[in-house]
Amino acid sequence: METKIFKINSPEDENIKAVGEILREGGLAAIPTETVYGLAGNALDGKCAEKIFAAKGRPSDNPLIVHISSFSQWAPLVKEIPESAKALADAFWPGPLTIILPKSELIPKEVSGGLDTVAVRMPENEIARAIIESAGVPLAAPSANLSGKPSPTTASHVIDDMTGRIDAIVDSGDCNVGVESTVLSLAVYPPRLLRPGQVTPVMLTEILGEIEIDDAVFDKLLDGQEAASPGMKYKHYSPDASVVLVKGSFEKFAKHVNSNAVDGTVALCFEGEEASLSVPAVTYGRRNDPASQAKHIFDALRTVDKIGAKQVFARFPENEGMGLAVFNRLLRAAAFNIIEL
Ligand code: AMP
Ligand code: MG
Repeated sequence: METKIFKINSPEDENIKAVGEILREGGLAAIPTETVYGLAGNALDGKCAEKIFAAKGRPSDNPLIVHISSFSQWAPLVKEIPESAKALADAFWPGPLTIILPKSELIPKEVSGGLDTVAVRMPENEIARAIIESAGVPLAAPSANLSGKPSPTTASHVIDDMTGRIDAIVDSGDCNVGVESTVLSLAVYPPRLLRPGQVTPVMLTEILGEIEIDDAVFDKLLDGQEAASPGMKYKHYSPDASVVLVKGSFEKFAKHVNSNAVDGTVALCFEGEEASLSVPAVTYGRRNDPASQAKHIFDALRTVDKIGAKQVFARFPENEGMGLAVFNRLLRAAAFNIIEL
């Protein structure tokens, strides 16, 4: 299939209409959001969800996040909107928080992956909201990468993965946040954090009082253990190279990398650290700056593959606040492989 590319830099752009029409007619379009690029289709049409799974090569029991552009689109998608959900939406929407609630009949089983709940968010990116509005329907949109690959944070990542597989790609430059939305389930009590993102546990606790953090945020699921969020049981964010997360000071890191370097060893480090390393280095943001690390981590993971890395030693990010989101993605990229020096 021919994939049309639309360069769109403002929510008033003429091309928004064309993309909205493709989506309204049942086509798929990759669209920018503030987190990562999304692969969007009509969330009320199970056939569109099936096309999304096929384009990504994603297992169809992994539910899709539904994106809305106005508060009034939310109520018809869920059984009810409890006070806690309203308070969260008031505080964080539009923005990178996904809220899970029991679903209404409008949500096809293909979108919810067979679950009786639905994940909804209102993106902050104005171009995303203009496209949803123009489509006239809520949009199911997982990350626009091939399943298992790092999420796309630039249009060129999407072009690499999705050309020939979907109807359109919107090119709006780089994503601001760089890691996917925080996913919180209000379908259980206490509310449960399923995926960390820019909206941190502390920010959620301020609104909700108590939350729990799902075990799968930090740990590998044991064989046979059921995933609260089906996506967490799949291999994720992984470059082709084997990645090891190295915990310890930069001095120890550099010594370890330099003495274990073989052909194909690459260091994944912070800006400014490259000069002390004897192997090719790819950086992911600044030390002690989780927001800059989040913005660059997925591009860095794609870059290590592009330069042919076989073994990657990665600096350990802070794992609190927004750093928890970066740590969670790197932990999966490293297949839970950590060494402590
Ligand atoms: P992505 O669409 O690639 O951003 O991934 C969405 C994530 O949210 C996946 O890990 C899904 O498993 C999770 N998710 C979406 N809907 C639900 C739901 N109804 N219940 C639990 N997890 C969900
Ligand atoms: Mg994804």
